[in-house]
Amino acid sequence: MTPMPDQANPSSSSPPLIEARGLQKRYRLSRQRLFQPAPSVLAVDDVSFKVHRGSTFGLVGESGSGKTTVAKMLLKIERPTAGTLLVEGQDIFAQDAAGERQYRSMVQTVLQDPYGALSPRLRAGRIVAEPLVTKSRLSWAQAEEQAGALMELVGLRREDLRKYPHEFSGGQRQRIAIARALSVDPRIIVLDESVSALDVSVRAQILKLLEEVQRKLGVTYLFIGHDLAVVRYMSTDVGVMYLGQLVEIGSAMQVFSRPLHPYSRQLVAAGSAETRIGALGVASDLPSPINPPPGCRFHTRCPHATPECSTQTPVLREMEPGHFGRCHHMEKIAA
Ligand code: SF4
Repeated sequence: MTPMPDQANPSSSSPPLIEARGLQKRYRLSRQRLFQPAPSVLAVDDVSFKVHRGSTFGLVGESGSGKTTVAKMLLKIERPTAGTLLVEGQDIFAQDAAGERQYRSMVQTVLQDPYGALSPRLRAGRIVAEPLVTKSRLSWAQAEEQAGALMELVGLRREDLRKYPHEFSGGQRQRIAIARALSVDPRIIVLDESVSALDVSVRAQILKLLEEVQRKLGVTYLFIGHDLAVVRYMSTDVGVMYLGQLVEIGSAMQVFSRPLHPYSRQLVAAGSAETRIGALGVASDLPSPINPPPGCRFHTRCPHATPECSTQTPVLREMEPGHFGRCHHMEKIAA
């Protein structure tokens, strides 16, 4: 396991709210031929990071890099194959039933597609109030009263509680999804591509709303995105993932102003982890995670690769306080 990176966060003297230690997630795939072992994918491999209370940890990388699998482990949708995930110092996979119930309220998510996430048959009031009834055990009258306050907090009106999801715009539906996530007073919200489907002006409004909510309520975000400008704007610290591994981690300022790893440098130059990396003259296809390249996993696409890179596996190394990269040649590349 590589050393635990501790990003240079202003609040890093306080204990982290979230601490991932050597997380690994392996998925078994179906057997392709009789008498042959079933293949597997190491979707997340040796991922360690810390997230401090009230901050935003951004995760970037192409589709298939493992960032959503990390989010699913934090949401306890997936269980790690190895490693530990601590929240408030407690191993979230060693909780009793009461701890488990409490944790389900503590961590909420807002997904990319607000329409898909909101039941079209329920009024907004029912959607926002329902967790207050089931998790906080309020009466429907009390829950709807609180739901009204939440609607105002996210920039909607109390009267909107009577409307159905199809009566709202995409941005307004995302506001309802945020109000629902906030209804159980979470400490952590996973934002998995939550603004990616919105057009630019609406996206800016939702980002401002998320910032305001964080300022008022002190909530901590895990922010997953492929638009580097958005991740930079939102994040306190950033992790860059490639084929299941963190290849760089540091403060947003460090990663975006002085990227260490050749992959991060390409992402920063492209501005997006999805659409334009191929345009930089880099092989655009991500190698198969079933059979990742040996040595440095990035060597098949790296303009700085040397023979050593295809045989020796790099580890995360600290290049400046709180700023880590996983590359043999960071000093030479920086120079
Ligand atoms: Fe490129 Fe080698 Fe560094 Fe990997 S270790 S990123 S292949 S220079």
